[in-house]
Amino acid sequence: MKTDSIAIVGAGIIGITSAYLLSRAGYRVMLLDAGRGPALGTSFANGAQLSYSYTDAMASPGLVAKMPGILLGRDPAFRVRMSAERQLLRWGSRFLMHAQAAREEQNTRNILRLSLHSREVLHRAQDECGIEFGHRLSGKLHIYGNRQDLDKAAIRVQQKGEWGCPQQVLDWQQCLALEPGLAQLATPMAGGVYSSLDEVGDCQHFAVRLLAQLRQQGVEEHYQCRVQRLRKEGNRITGLDTSQGPLTADAYLLATGPDSLALARGIGMALPIYPIKGYSITVPATGQAPDVCITDVDNKVVFARLGDRLRVAGCADIVGYDRELDEQRIAHLLRVCRQRFPEAGDYDRILDRWTGFRPVTPSSAPIIGRAGADNLYLNLGHGMLGWTLAMGSASLLAARLGGYPAPIDDTGLRPIDHGLR
Ligand SMILES: Cc1cc2nc3c(=O)[nH]c(=O)nc-3n(C[C@H](O)[C@H](O)[C@H](O)COP(=O)(O)OP(=O)(O)OC[C@H]3O[C@@H](n4cnc5c(N)ncnc54)[C@H](O)[C@@H]3O)c2cc1C
Repeated sequence: MKTDSIAIVGAGIIGITSAYLLSRAGYRVMLLDAGRGPALGTSFANGAQLSYSYTDAMASPGLVAKMPGILLGRDPAFRVRMSAERQLLRWGSRFLMHAQAAREEQNTRNILRLSLHSREVLHRAQDECGIEFGHRLSGKLHIYGNRQDLDKAAIRVQQKGEWGCPQQVLDWQQCLALEPGLAQLATPMAGGVYSSLDEVGDCQHFAVRLLAQLRQQGVEEHYQCRVQRLRKEGNRITGLDTSQGPLTADAYLLATGPDSLALARGIGMALPIYPIKGYSITVPATGQAPDVCITDVDNKVVFARLGDRLRVAGCADIVGYDRELDEQRIAHLLRVCRQRFPEAGDYDRILDRWTGFRPVTPSSAPIIGRAGADNLYLNLGHGMLGWTLAMGSASLLAARLGGYPAPIDDTGLRPIDHGLR
């Protein structure tokens, strides 16, 4: 049993799942967060999808082909405010390199290995902890309005089958038979891709309730505790300067999501992460809300029923760290809801409107492992899939920290794969 202490900076889903597996492995865990409580950052009101099968990297030839339209503001799912910000230029050029077909395929496959592992680890944790978080084995259906897009998706479905992830291409009649709630769409679609392994659950509920159990096992929490600086001497981090004073531990983990850049820069590490802003609304669900999770591919909007609530999320805005909740983006989500699922929710009674930043790397793969100092670890950059990948990422990290073999091939996920040492 190890007795080392570890300070985890960031109490989002990534920090909390890391705390869970590290505390089980015998570490004394301190969890620090600048916020007033746990999971109030990007993990607060995301799309709720445990999207184990859909791990496709964002940088792809398809996205590059759509780039002129996106930059001209013709795709309502995206909003780009061009700037000469150095971080964006550096990140953007690496993103374009990852958009080559062969790289996109490899990146998707690397993330898929992690997501399938994550599913197993979450199920084990659920058996052990029995947490209520609106978890359902819902499956997920991507619906396509455009025949050509569906045909392209079918090629990836075949590949994923070879990579151990079963999906099915369905015509529109089969989609309707699977999810009768689709009958409320005004116009029939081309068809869909069904992912039977995918699930749904409230990320914030899970994080907060898991942490409540960890508290009883002695995990120490510090909120409104902003880490201002990592103190580094030689090859070791010797302590943290925080808004509550200095703090020391044997090892340190950065799980700071989209806000990681400044801390890393302080020790000379340039993280390849860019914040891509998204939005969600949560409304009361009606009896017509789909049971299966739906991704509306044309609008890039996801619909997930969480008990008696319907969570709808979307938008990919490249606007730097502008934290304002833009009502026009909420109006866009509501327009898509009323167009696609007019009967599924009470859209006049919004329970929550929210915005957050996806911490996206050029390859879309997270960064997991040791970098920057002998006792500094990273669990960062989970982009669009942090909820899905959290348990698997924590499991990989625990293996790295404990010095035992990684439970899966972690090529593409290691700091060195992201140009970090
Ligand atoms: C609109 C939207 C929809 C999404 N939908 C899905 C989905 O359906 N499925 C899915 O898998 N993923 C989804 N995601 C992605 C997922 O939400 C994120 O990848 C995930 O929440 C990232 O978790 P995190 O713990 O890394 O970051 P966070 O939750 O942001 O946690 C980081 C924490 O670090 C703290 N922190 C930062 N800097 C400091 C500091 N200096 N000192 C102390 N504390 C600090 C912050 O306060 C914060 O609490 C979505 C994201 C968005 C924006």
